[in-house]
Amino acid sequence: MISLRSFVAFAAIISAAHLPSARSAFAQSAQTPAADTSRLAGYSSQSSQTERDWEKKLQAGVLPENLRQNMQRLSARPHHVGSPYDKDNADWILSKFKEWGFDAHIETFQVLFPTPKERIVEMIEPTKFRAKLQEPPVPGDPTSNQIAEQLPTYNAYSIDGDVTAPLVYVNYGNREDYEQLDRLGISVKGAIVIARYGEGWRGIKPKVAAEHQAIGCIIYSDPKDDGFFNGDDYPKGGWRPREGVQRGSVMDTDYPGDPLTPGVGATADAKRLDIKDAKTITKIPVLPISWGDALPLLTALQGQVAPEAWRGALPITYHVGPGPAKVHLKVASNWDLKPVNDVIATMRGSDAPEQWVIRGNHYDAWVNGADDPISGMVTVLEEARMLGDLHKQGWNPKRTIILCAWDGEEPGLLGSTEWVETHGDELQKHAIAYINSDSNGRGFLFAGGSHDLQHLINDVTLGVQDPEKHISVQQRARLQRIARAHNAEERAEIRKSNDLRIGALGDGSDYAPFIDHAGISTLNIGYGGENDADSYHSIYDDFYWYTKFVDTDFSYGRALAQTGGTAVMRLADADVIPYEYNAEAETIERYVKELEKLLKDKQDEITERNLELKEGVFTATADPRKAYVPPPAKPVPPFMNFAPLKNGVEAIKKSAERYQSAFAKWQAAGINLPAQTAAALNADLMQVQRTFLTEKGLPERPWFKHQVYAPGAYTGYGAKPIAAVREYMDQEKWQEADAQVPIVGQVLENVAAAIGKAADDLEQALRQAQ
Ligand SMILES: [Zn+2]
Repeated sequence: MISLRSFVAFAAIISAAHLPSARSAFAQSAQTPAADTSRLAGYSSQSSQTERDWEKKLQAGVLPENLRQNMQRLSARPHHVGSPYDKDNADWILSKFKEWGFDAHIETFQVLFPTPKERIVEMIEPTKFRAKLQEPPVPGDPTSNQIAEQLPTYNAYSIDGDVTAPLVYVNYGNREDYEQLDRLGISVKGAIVIARYGEGWRGIKPKVAAEHQAIGCIIYSDPKDDGFFNGDDYPKGGWRPREGVQRGSVMDTDYPGDPLTPGVGATADAKRLDIKDAKTITKIPVLPISWGDALPLLTALQGQVAPEAWRGALPITYHVGPGPAKVHLKVASNWDLKPVNDVIATMRGSDAPEQWVIRGNHYDAWVNGADDPISGMVTVLEEARMLGDLHKQGWNPKRTIILCAWDGEEPGLLGSTEWVETHGDELQKHAIAYINSDSNGRGFLFAGGSHDLQHLINDVTLGVQDPEKHISVQQRARLQRIARAHNAEERAEIRKSNDLRIGALGDGSDYAPFIDHAGISTLNIGYGGENDADSYHSIYDDFYWYTKFVDTDFSYGRALAQTGGTAVMRLADADVIPYEYNAEAETIERYVKELEKLLKDKQDEITERNLELKEGVFTATADPRKAYVPPPAKPVPPFMNFAPLKNGVEAIKKSAERYQSAFAKWQAAGINLPAQTAAALNADLMQVQRTFLTEKGLPERPWFKHQVYAPGAYTGYGAKPIAAVREYMDQEKWQEADAQVPIVGQVLENVAAAIGKAADDLEQALRQAQ
């Protein structure tokens, strides 16, 4: 589900840690010399050495040729949910896991998955035009002609509908775009909107259009965003061609997974909602089209010229409308239950089998999906082969390793969500981490996740080499951030921190149920940013295209398998789970400061706007020959009391400091913790991330239980930390926002207590050892 382009965006927004590094902070607070660098975090000196040896073997064993062969096999035919080749792939993956020594099985759920029955986009005025809605095969591309098996171009979970209305161009179709339309005096009430792809989750476009009383939505791919504006288009180059279409889900953001079984596993006998009661199906019909199909529609629009930032790369003057173009849009789907088949493989832990390290990637695609998702899936398979190989050589992971090949990610994280919901109780007791990947490409390391794993992934990626630059991938990511930093202060922060800050996660891939719903520490990893290509969710995302334009020699696939495999081993073998809480505390502190700044900015903005309204600035400066409506006056937001959040942050900082100080002492002293002590400590550590959950969840999205990490209701993919407070602030519901503060504050106090308990355990163990 993650797009190539979103990798670039993610890499640009993450910046380095604010505080001194975890390692130097340990050293300062513990009054001891810096930790011995030969000792891995969470390991004794002896277990460190053994671990390093095994990890080196894994890294050396990863073979690009296997990645290539497995990609060719898995992407040979279209393999969307419910298709014959999707099941064929599941069986093949299962056989591979078994061959490599895993205990593996397929777990099946029954989910609502609509497929197209009827699709029409046609212009009936001022001229007639019928959209093709078909991606043509490309000569030389051997899988682009598998038309009989290709899922037609559509947006899954669009409601059925048949509407005819004037057309309005709404740019990306986000909330801000409609504010701009208000200024232009244009309403979309009763209209069909045409939005371009990009800038957030596509499901937001029909959602916001419906909120503004539009009756239909068309989404097209503008060449400025992923076509010829960026480079030669396919097949000469790798960019989306004239008739290329982005398929994709438009499920609403109330909850991921099967629309009919929110919160529970979609097992055969699960209680299901009626389709009409499913909250995540769109309110208006929506279809995606190519720029070739969009061009006649956009050309026929008149009315005001679109604001400069709204103009794409087509050779026309972009007008907003409404009309005179009048469009007929018809969508009808087969609303069937389809099986999703998750392939689950287990390697039982030797010392602590009750603790699980989980690694996953999806294998379902919209069509052939060489990039999305097979480029990521083959790295997980190669990790599996190597873990099996090491196991045969005598390596036994302390903890249980569970590898997951998810089905049904593309429609809405179906396979992973239903699995997490089905196994919720076990996961609460056993899961110590989930590591996700999705698409993979050339370029820079990308890592997002819960910040208790920030230090771990930094440590791991210091030991992985960039295949093209021959420096560590962590170092390369650091240098990229320095190059992209906005000012001297940002650059200074990046330079002085040992650990690079990882981004917060929204809900762009299968990690969402783990972190957002189940409170399991999570990482999402991959490489990207140098792909001179984009054919996201099209028939052209295939083996021929990927091996010509993306990671052509699979060297970054090798880097991802090395990264993922090492992270899994490091977590599975550690004496003490290597969570690090200073980074977690510092990150939450930043989030709270962002909330304070958000309020201040809003107050300033509205105060200024009200003043300008009084002065007559808007009416005096608007061109009288163009329609213009000044923004409305608004009450200035009241002050909020953020004290409970700040107190919560202080409490977490104190416990984190205590825990990390004891941890550093333990590492420096080289004491072996007695097995029972380590077991009790790890059991307590495992519960810390769970403590962020509340039973009630977010106020208007109860499926989302985590009170710090969550996607936004209007951003989709993107994260909105402390969403309970922030979402109300975004909606300018100040009282509601204020009322959430003490609830989240209490959660932070509980987290501080949970970290404090782990600190008690470790301090006691150290006293006993002396
Ligand atoms: Zn994907």
